[in-house]
This record gives sequence, structure tokens and C-alpha cells, in this order.
Amino acid sequence: GSGSTGTDDSERTIAGRVDSQDSTVSDGENADPRCFRQNSVSSVSQSLREWDIPYDELDRGEVIGRGRFGIVYSGNWHGHVAIKELRMDYVNDEKTLEAFKAEVSTFRKTRHENLVLFMGACMKPPRLAIVTSLCKGRTLYTHIHVQKDKFNMSKTIMIAQQISQGMGYLHARGIVHKDLKTKNIFLESGKVVITDFGLFNVTRLCHDTRRGNWLSIPPGWLCYLSPEVMRNLRVAQKQDDGLPFTTYSDVYGFGTVWYELLCGEWPHKGLPPEAIIWQVGRGMKPSLANLQASRDVKDILMACWSYRPDERPEFSTMQANLNKLPKKRLHRSPSHPIHLSRSAES
Ligand code: ADP
Ligand code: MG
Repeated sequence: GSGSTGTDDSERTIAGRVDSQDSTVSDGENADPRCFRQNSVSSVSQSLREWDIPYDELDRGEVIGRGRFGIVYSGNWHGHVAIKELRMDYVNDEKTLEAFKAEVSTFRKTRHENLVLFMGACMKPPRLAIVTSLCKGRTLYTHIHVQKDKFNMSKTIMIAQQISQGMGYLHARGIVHKDLKTKNIFLESGKVVITDFGLFNVTRLCHDTRRGNWLSIPPGWLCYLSPEVMRNLRVAQKQDDGLPFTTYSDVYGFGTVWYELLCGEWPHKGLPPEAIIWQVGRGMKPSLANLQASRDVKDILMACWSYRPDERPEFSTMQANLNKLPKKRLHRSPSHPIHLSRSAES
């Protein structure tokens, strides 16, 4: 069916519900996944039409922040939303636009309570924007690195579980996040919400990687990159080729998030970027000197950071492993040895 009648509101309400669909069930609704796969990129535009939001309909509010994409605004579109406007400097031809649409189309397929709700996109140049629900809480990055919040073990495990659930769902749908980091994980009254999945290439489209400049490395980004991605950094820049992100490299990134949750800081603390790239690329794991945790906790970390991608656990396994960890609150009593401690910040 074309489903082009009526307002989109009913459908968006459905999209707003917590997902309980089996991911193996076909795409449902209007999209015939076979059509989608068989046809050329122009059919991507076709199937995306129902997600197209006319830019004029958006009531754009304050700037929330700036990232690799461009500017993120809060706004209103049938409720509070986040509007990610892409920099248009390099989205200047049809091919690039179609690539943008193809990337955005992955969003359509995501309905899970631990994933940000995709509401639509503005797809008419020069206004390209992605509209999602507005996350109300703070990012894990803010909790851990700015507020220096300390989570007890049961909360830490609960957060990691929810991240694993959201990520497991994405992977089951064939979507690689490519940019899993604490800045892209919100905590909304105890609920984890993951954002920005599958958009990494869009950000690349918005930047001129051919200018001959050195690859720009945002602070705190390198520590999420797996060895195989790390080794391709320069190559990717020269050839204007995508970095080899996979579900496995996502798991590596999750390991780093797990480390941050446990230690309250990033791995490789104090090392310059060159040293991180060199060490990780050669198979060295970050130092665990600041991590005083039980064996099981460290095992999860080491497995995620395995040098060989296929030795990293899948998120389903991760959930089982996290489940096995003792969830008891940490007590100071000597009968409960401290499972983790954070180094004093300086
Ligand atoms: P980064 O993820 O590297 O911080 P982004 O461009 O994704 O860069 O985000 C820029 C800012 O907008 C950040 O402060 C981020 O927390 C905020 N932000 C992004 N998406 C949302 C959202 N859906 N809801 C609320 N704030 C958001
Ligand atoms: Mg982000």
C-alpha cells in the first residue's frame, strides 16, 4: 500500500511507542524491503517522502550545541524536537544528496525505547536537517566528565544493559552506529537513550576531507576507535574512503563507554593522539591502572577491546555477561570488597 492518505500524525504516534516488534519481522507498513533494496537510489527518495518535513513547518528555537554536523537546535514540531541542521558547504550535488537520504533512511527502521525517536528530515537543499525527539536528560559524557557523577555498580550495570539492548537492536537491524560514545548516550530519569546512529558518513559528507588538511580529531574521540579503524585513519582521509566501521567496531566503542562508567575518565588519559593511534593500531590495550574492579568486570572490558574484531562479543552475549555481574550496591563494609574505585580527579 502507498499509505499516502491521511495525516502522518497517527503513524508518528505509533512510531513514538516503545518498540516491541520482533526485528526479524519484515519492515511492515508501507515499505517493502525488497523494493527498497532492489531499486536505485532514486527510490530511496521515493520511500523517504513520507518522512520529509517541510522546513517551514519547523519552529526553530535555541541553539543546543554544535557538533561535527553543524548546529543542533531545540524546536517545535508537534512537540519538542531536536533539529540537526547539516552544514551545506559540501552537499552541493545530486549524488551527495541521495547519499544523505540513504543514510537518513536507516533511521526509519529504528523503534526501540533505548534509541532516540526519529521523526523526519528536511531533505530539500539548502535546508538539510534531521528531526528527532528532544532528549531531556544529560548525556553520559556530562554525567561522567563534567559533573563527575559516580554511579554505583548496580546503576552502572543497568546503564550498560540498556546500551547493550539498544545496540543489539540496531545490529539486528543491520545498522552500525559508527559513533557510539558517551556524548551520544543520554540518561533520562534512569532510561538510556542512544542518539546519532548511522550518521557518521553524513558528517563526513559535510566536511571537506579532500582539502589536504590533517584529519581533525575531536577530543575524546580516538579512544572509541578500534584498532582496524585506527589504522585506516590516514588512508581514509587520502582516498576519501569511509572508515571501516562494523558492528565489531561498535562493540569496541562500547568497551570504552564501559571503562568510562567504571573509571570516571577516558582510557589513554594523558596520552597524545599520535601515541594512542600508534599503540592501539599495534594492538596495545589501554592501561587498566585506574580500574580496580572484579575479574568479571575486567573480562567484559578486555573482550570488547579484543584486537581481533571477531573475538569481540555480540551485544546479546554482552547482556548475558552483564547479567551475571553481582548487582549489589557497593558497601564500604570490609565484607564487601570494593569492586571499583575512581582515582581522585586532579
Ligand atoms: P556531539 O554528539 O559530538 O556532542 P552533536 O552535533 O551530536 O555533537 O550534538 C551537539 C549538541 O546537541 C550536544 O550538546 C548534544 O548533547 C546535543 N544534542 C544532540 N542531539 C540531541 C537530542 N536529540 N536531544 C537533545 N540534545 C541533543
Ligand atoms: Mg551527537
